[in-house]
Order: sequence, then structure tokens, then C-alpha cells
Amino acid sequence: MCGVVGVFGHPEASTLAYLSLYALQHRGQESAGIVASDGDTLSRHAGMGHAAEVFSKRELDGLPGSAAIGHVRYSTAGESTSANAQPFLLRHHRGPIAIAHNGNLVNAAALRAELEGDGSIFQTTSDTETILHLAARHRAPDVVDALTHALRQVRGAYSLVALVPGRLIAARDPLGFRPLSIGRVGAAWVVASETCVFDLIGAEAVRDVERGEVVVADVGGLHSFRPFEPARAAPCLFEHVYFARPDSHVFGQSVQAVRKRLGERLWVECPADVDAVVPVPDSGLFAAIGYAGASGRPLEFGLVRNHYIGRTFIEPSQQIRNFGVRIKLNPVREVLRGRRIALIDDSIVRGTTSRKIVQLCREAGAREIHVRISCPPTIGPCSYGIDTPDRDELIAARIAPEEIRRHLDADSLGYLSLDGMLEAAGSARQKVCTACWTDEQPVELPRAEAEQLGLFDRQRS
Ligand code: AMP
Repeated sequence: MCGVVGVFGHPEASTLAYLSLYALQHRGQESAGIVASDGDTLSRHAGMGHAAEVFSKRELDGLPGSAAIGHVRYSTAGESTSANAQPFLLRHHRGPIAIAHNGNLVNAAALRAELEGDGSIFQTTSDTETILHLAARHRAPDVVDALTHALRQVRGAYSLVALVPGRLIAARDPLGFRPLSIGRVGAAWVVASETCVFDLIGAEAVRDVERGEVVVADVGGLHSFRPFEPARAAPCLFEHVYFARPDSHVFGQSVQAVRKRLGERLWVECPADVDAVVPVPDSGLFAAIGYAGASGRPLEFGLVRNHYIGRTFIEPSQQIRNFGVRIKLNPVREVLRGRRIALIDDSIVRGTTSRKIVQLCREAGAREIHVRISCPPTIGPCSYGIDTPDRDELIAARIAPEEIRRHLDADSLGYLSLDGMLEAAGSARQKVCTACWTDEQPVELPRAEAEQLGLFDRQRS
């Protein structure tokens, strides 16, 4: 869960990268960073917190040059510390190199152990650093060859940008788990995790970086390479269900349009005789629009979300009931009182949020609460960069939907089926990653990773 951006050929590259991080902030709020290049040297600033907290004019003035890469982080591998804030910048025998990565490498731990055994000294606990060590050790004179060589050895998910003097490099893993798109602003190239970046900085979307493609921008233009063995496609469907911004186009489709179709299909599969369709903001909004439209029932905002909580709020000393959820969501009593509602959200992970929201709606006077979820039960943790908890914390991995309904205290509970989700998203099961709903892993996980996920016996059999 991270966002990356790269800019090449713009006099205010670091400022464009900074603005882009605002558009990608939903992909990670733990740390933010930028490395800029003036064609000779690379300079870096990164820190803990949102882009707005990490950067001021002074920091941006210290990042001169016409090329830059940026990163926002939500840790899925490695701790949440400033040492792990990206982009990483180091100097090796070919000169300086910076890298920013979205995704999760499944064999990083094994590679790291091997590298450390051979004398490598790691500066961070992030899986991304492995790529740099592998590239640094390779003898190829050209840095793109060395980076490609490193990427051939890692497995799992990466959409990354790298910067060396005179060149911006972007790469997407052969299965294409995470999105990465190319845009143009004037004569400059922009590469970003999501296309909402292009809207913000006035860039035109050009195309996606294809899965298994390495793209290099330099003064000669944009160059494309296909250095990897072909592999099955496994773009992450959860980007469409929850993670990406609804105003982005991800894997060639409008996120809001997919979410709306998920909601329409949810109505067909799990109708509810209700007075109003109420979205859980913001994650359930577009599915609720689809559900309401298909059902002919009114969409009403029975919950209002506070967007100004920030990363650290001060816990009250005395126990205020449901404080954690109340600070984020407040019920609109006039909408809920005496009504039968369909409460629409994108997913249930641990089940704690939905339980509290149902309770809030009941306390506000809702007569019947029918919870509808726009994806199937989440039964598997993600190894490819979405922060899902361990399997035993996933409520649907432990108990059946009827028990979940009772846990939530809902009048009914309906999940979208896997086939329904795939159809609404226009995806074939073998051409997307469905691991969080099926436990089917699109790449073979190393033993340690599989054991951690409780998958080893199943994989071996
Ligand atoms: P819970 O069931 O209490 O774990 O929370 C589920 C809620 O968290 C849903 O409303 C989702 O919108 C949201 N959600 C789903 N996946 C994630 C994730 N990986 N990280 C943070 N929030 C998530």
C-alpha cells in the first residue's frame, strides 16, 4: 500500500512530484519523500507523515533539477520508521541511484539472507532495499541492465520508479499486480501509481506501463523494454474494490464505474426490501450508488465522515463508547430513525468497523439494517502489498457468514459472489489476483511466507 510518481524533463520536477503525492496520499500516510536530479547529483528529502507535513517550500527548494521521483508509504514489509521512508537513495559503483516501490516482494527475506551472508550491509528493513543490493552487485556497466537483472531475481509485486542522473526508469512486475500509468505534461513525462495524479498536475494520460515492461525516459524520449519471461496476468482486483481513488483509471478501467457495477450486481444477488440505501463513507459510496440505482430505492447519506482526524488523535482519558468510530463517522438521525436501510460497504476485514457502524445506526434509530458488501468474504491475507491482517484476524476466515451477521448484529448480511464480482469488473478469474477471496496464489510463495500465511500444507499437497 504505497504510491509512486516519477517526473522527467520538467523545470519544476520536485514540485510536480510533491503535488502528485497529494493525489496519492490515500495510498499511504506513514511517510512521504522525494528525490530530485539536476542531471548530475541526486538530492533527497523524506520524513514521517503526510506530504503536507513533510514538505515546505524550503525542502522543495533543496530539491533542484528537471527529474524527480516521489513516494508515499503505508508499510506492508518492514517497520514504520523514517529509515524505511522512500525513495531510497544510495551511491554505488555506477553513481547515485534512487528507487521508490509499490508492492511486496515475496522472496525478499530469502534474498536478503543470502546477500547478508555474502557481506551486504542493509540500511533498512524494507524489501525494496533488496533490489538495490542485487543491482549494485551486478557487473553490467549500464544501470538499466543491472536493475533489470535484479528485478529478474525478485518475485511478487512491484510497480516502481528509479532515478539516475539523466534517466527516469519505471518498471512493473510481469504479473502486473499494482497499477502504474504514463502521462505527459508539456514536453515532460510523468509516471504515477494512479491517473488521478495527471488530473491534478494538468498532465494527459498516455497509457499504462504494461505488466513486465521497463520504461526509460531520457533526453531522447521514452524507451520500452520487455526483459522478463511472460507470466499470467494478476492485477489486484482489490484496487478496484477499495484501494484506488474512484477518479482514477486503473488497469484500463474507471474505478468509479467498476464500483458502481459491483453495487448493481450486489442488488441483483442480494436484494433487500428497504426504505433507503446508505453508503459507509467513503469506501462504500460508489457501490451504494450502483445498488440504489438498480433497486430504485433512494440513496441517502445516513453517515457523515470527518476527514480531518489526522494520523494521531488524542484518546480521551475516560472511556467514550465507540470513540474510535464516532470520531470518523457520525450518524444522521433524521435519515436513519424508523427506517429500514441497506448499509453498503466495500469489504469486511476484521469485522470490528462494521460491527460498530451497525451499532451506531441502531442507536440512531434504524429499524432494520441489511449489510451489503461489494466483494466476497475476505479469507486470505495479501502477500502482494495490501495491508491485510493475519489469517486468524480475518473474520470470514474463522466463521461463516451467518455467524458474522450475528456478530455484526445486522438483520441480514449479503456479500457479492466471486463470479458476480468478476463479471461486474469484466475480469476472468485466471487473469486477475483473487487471493484475498479464494486463497489462490498467482505466484508460488516461498516456504517461510506460505507458512506465515498458514498456506504451506495446502501448497505442498
Ligand atoms: P474491519 O472489518 O473492521 O477490519 O474494517 C473494514 C473496513 O476497512 C472496510 O470498511 C474497508 O473499507 C476498510 N478496509 C478494507 N481493507 C483495508 C485495508 N487493507 N486497510 C485499511 N482499511 C481497509
